[in-house]
Amino acid sequence: MRIQVMEIGFDDVTLDEAVDIAMQHIERGEKCRVVTPNPEIARMCRNDSQLCDIVNSSQLVLPDGIGVVYASRILGRPLRGRVPGFEFAEKLLDRMQNTGYSVFFFGAKPGVAEKAAEKMQKKYPGLLIAGTLNGYYTNESAVVAAINDARPDVLFVCLGAPKQEQFMALRGDVLTPTLMAGLGGTLDGLAGEVKRAPDFFIRLNLEWLYRLLCQPRRIGRVIKLPLYLLSAVAARGKNRHA
Ligand code: UDP
Repeated sequence: MRIQVMEIGFDDVTLDEAVDIAMQHIERGEKCRVVTPNPEIARMCRNDSQLCDIVNSSQLVLPDGIGVVYASRILGRPLRGRVPGFEFAEKLLDRMQNTGYSVFFFGAKPGVAEKAAEKMQKKYPGLLIAGTLNGYYTNESAVVAAINDARPDVLFVCLGAPKQEQFMALRGDVLTPTLMAGLGGTLDGLAGEVKRAPDFFIRLNLEWLYRLLCQPRRIGRVIKLPLYLLSAVAARGKNRHA
């Protein structure tokens, strides 16, 4: 079931359900685009109808970030919880072990995807990694060819928003992987380049605060969270008076 939170319809799924749906697509060979919008992406959608269409026409739209869940509560149709892209990625890799399906890591700075691959190969010994490629390129056709040549079933696209969503949608017809997922800074996390917040912050839904403390230059991005919640309050007011 999809729950509309302003511009975006989110799938009301748990992490396990999201991974189940992803695995079903892979097993059936049915193309699947996964997006993980957070308040920042949701606000981009407000001013970019093409991005908004790309997000909403994806087969799996995961609520990445507590801000989206709070907004759904404000609007009176609460999502069951958040499904962070990073956790979705890790769980999918775990489930792909010993299935014969392979994954390709695309994105992040040179060397990061390789490091993530090394770490994930150790963590999930039964995982097949078809290849890696950094996200700083000039020839997009060459990137598509390199990915297709490696014949992965799953492609992690970690270019940040909206680049990753546009890449998946505009190149979707020529890319051969069954499932593609736009996962922001996930490869940095898998490689250990960026530390995930300690459990304490995650439990209190304060992961955004931890990231801000570690990288104060993110303030311009973090400020989008209260702005997003304010838009939800305004949208609720409009709905009531409609
Ligand atoms: N990135 C990339 N190519 C680009 C721009 C960004 O591969 O042209 C990568 C960047 O190195 C980082 C990721 O995209 O690994 C974006 O991470 P960010 O933390 O901004 O994403 P978030 O998870 O916050 O959405």
